[in-house]
Amino acid sequence: MRKISETKLVGLIGNPVKHSLSPSMHNRGFEVCGLNMYYVAFEVDPLCLEAALKGMAALSFAGFNITLPFKEVVLPFLDSVHVEAEMIGAVNTVVIKGGQFHGYNTDGIGFLNSLQEKGINAAGKNILLIGAGGAARAVAVSLALQGAESIIIANRTVSRARELCNKVSSIGVNCRAVSTENINEEVNLKTINFVVNATPVGMYCSDDDIIFPVSELPPGSAVCDLVYGQKTRLLQEAANFGHTAVDGSGMLLYQGTEAFRLLTGHEPPVQAMRQALDVAICQRL
Ligand code: NAP
Repeated sequence: MRKISETKLVGLIGNPVKHSLSPSMHNRGFEVCGLNMYYVAFEVDPLCLEAALKGMAALSFAGFNITLPFKEVVLPFLDSVHVEAEMIGAVNTVVIKGGQFHGYNTDGIGFLNSLQEKGINAAGKNILLIGAGGAARAVAVSLALQGAESIIIANRTVSRARELCNKVSSIGVNCRAVSTENINEEVNLKTINFVVNATPVGMYCSDDDIIFPVSELPPGSAVCDLVYGQKTRLLQEAANFGHTAVDGSGMLLYQGTEAFRLLTGHEPPVQAMRQALDVAICQRL
């Protein structure tokens, strides 16, 4: 029986947050570990971010997760930022200790763990990353840190791809930026053995969803689409050509389990959290 007066809270701040799957996943984790903790999602007006942060510290929250649009703007309010979060330039988890805010980014490690589960390692791979937004930044940095051989970043807005490319190059990985429109002309797909789609294209299941010819990839390639809860056209095509196809649900799970580890200090109950997430995804569809 939970002693409510002693319940330690964990927050999620973002806008919007009402469709977030994180409360289901984390609350199931707390339950399985017998922790008197509770995870609540808060839709925060961007003008009230500082007040929301102070409120969570005043109420002795264990910490909080952060989603759009606060992952970057929260940085100036933190007392420390973990080195990988600093490289990514965004934070998705904050642990509150002694009133101090310590920021982390678990998206990158979550992504790598989801690949590991499918037997994929980025080391030595020639990678095409489509997208240059928040998720792409975490993916690019984590792939570079894992030892990718080269990364081509394709984005609709090519200036954003160039910016991300500079970051990847600074880690010591050969990187090139192209416009998504020019993938066919500017990328020799026969040299690519791993593709990551970090754009929402694919969520709408239209004929425009395939942004490059999957048939050009060499046999035994891997294709990952960060969209979760559905098998996108890109992943269907990849599977048809015999490539390893990975959706975004593993990344979602493992960014959550790593955040759980930081926020509770406990080993995350991965299977229970996965089941809770699967149920929440089904209920949302
Ligand atoms: P974001 O910061 O808004 O970035 C969106 C990216 O997609 C940008 O590169 C944008 O290009 C591109 N884009 C958007 N609409 C496009 C279109 N119609 N055609 C071509 N490119 C388009 O979003 P994000 O947080 O990075 O999320 C990107 C995707 O990853 C979403 O589908 C999200 O659900 C998924 N995601 C999954 C996880 C997970 O755990 N599985 C975690 C985070 C995100 P411009 O720069 O030109 O605007």
